[in-house]
Amino acid sequence: MTRVANVSRTREIDAALRRRAREVIPGGMYGHLSANNLPEEYPQFYARSEGSRVWDVDGNEYVDLMCSFGPVILGHRHPAVEAAVSAQLATGDTQAGPAPCMVELAELLVERVSHADWAMFAKNGSDANTICLMIARAATGNNKVLAARGAYHGSAPWSTPVVRGVTPEDRASVQYYTFNDLASVEAAAAHAAGDVAAVIVSPFKHDAGFDQELVDPAFARGLRGLCDRIGAALVLDEVRAGFRLNHGGSWETIGVEPDLSAWSKAIANGYALAAVLGSAPLAEAASSIFVTGSFWYQAAPMAAAVATITALREQSAVASMLQRGIRLREGLQAQARSAGVAICQTGPPQMPNLRFVGDENFERSRLFGGACAAGGVIVHPRHNWFVSAALSDDDVDDALATTEMAFAAVREQFGGS
Ligand code: PMP
Repeated sequence: MTRVANVSRTREIDAALRRRAREVIPGGMYGHLSANNLPEEYPQFYARSEGSRVWDVDGNEYVDLMCSFGPVILGHRHPAVEAAVSAQLATGDTQAGPAPCMVELAELLVERVSHADWAMFAKNGSDANTICLMIARAATGNNKVLAARGAYHGSAPWSTPVVRGVTPEDRASVQYYTFNDLASVEAAAAHAAGDVAAVIVSPFKHDAGFDQELVDPAFARGLRGLCDRIGAALVLDEVRAGFRLNHGGSWETIGVEPDLSAWSKAIANGYALAAVLGSAPLAEAASSIFVTGSFWYQAAPMAAAVATITALREQSAVASMLQRGIRLREGLQAQARSAGVAICQTGPPQMPNLRFVGDENFERSRLFGGACAAGGVIVHPRHNWFVSAALSDDDVDDALATTEMAFAAVREQFGGS
């Protein structure tokens, strides 16, 4: 690669696009890919991507440690995935009905994910979680859902973290508990008094802006026991972590099987697809609800998913993401130590989370993120990052060359800690 840190980075095309966007797109941009709240060194618009790298519209190159907030797990434009998509597009995508690859994909997921006996498909993680709750309600006849306080399960009215535009009724069926605290789940269940349809939980705590927290296996087992006791469905939200921790489901290694799981992001390496996976006893309830979408049956994303999930295991992707994640984490820790800056890294190394100690208003992490962008590395100041299987040791070392300067900038502005 070209080390890009010393290249003077222009932003003229990006600035012109932002000006035009402000005229025709509310706020100029919205949602999680908006650069509005990021330091000014971040570009808003990108022109192309390949493997572990992305290029903004002004031609500046970056090591991509966000992977589009997770979807790009094998690296951008992975050859096997692109070939599968091209082959499918050559014959049809949005057709009069689904293509054979839908069945192939369902078979592959059922074979791969230990708790799954069937699969349904949609487009987004928000869809997938909402469908899980609908199936749980149809199966149990109950209404309430227990969710961890602060957990992100999507932007549907029942779950969006910002309450503007949402009615109290949209949230009325949700009771909150604390992640890894079984007593708080028991209390929420008692409060819902015999009306619990589902307990929804993430494989580990990955709330933006907070330290990550791995699941206590006893908590996961406790949730399973509670759901069995009260007749509720256990829903695992795999949207963010799915296939980054394990090829057979994030809780396979601790031996706890959910009844339903929601997937999206990484399952098709960037193509738009979500999946709901479920166990056999819930198949009838799943077939009894009405959910659909004009583009849910598109064949190309399903072909992409078959190729992605196949390549993940063939490439031992989880092991390679873990190894690069550890290399990155160790490098960052050593740099912070020698810069005299206190940091706290948490969660699985494949999904790195870095916090500056004492950084209540995220000022240090904003400075750090901006310096990384200026030096050719895309990270996020308040959200976990993502490692892809395309990231090589050299990529990690290139990224570390930039983060070293970013730590020095933090030290210079805020002093040591
Ligand atoms: N659940 C989790 C854990 C997520 O991280 C996200 C997306 N960040 C969602 C659900 C929602 O997915 P989507 O944005 O595809 O609707």
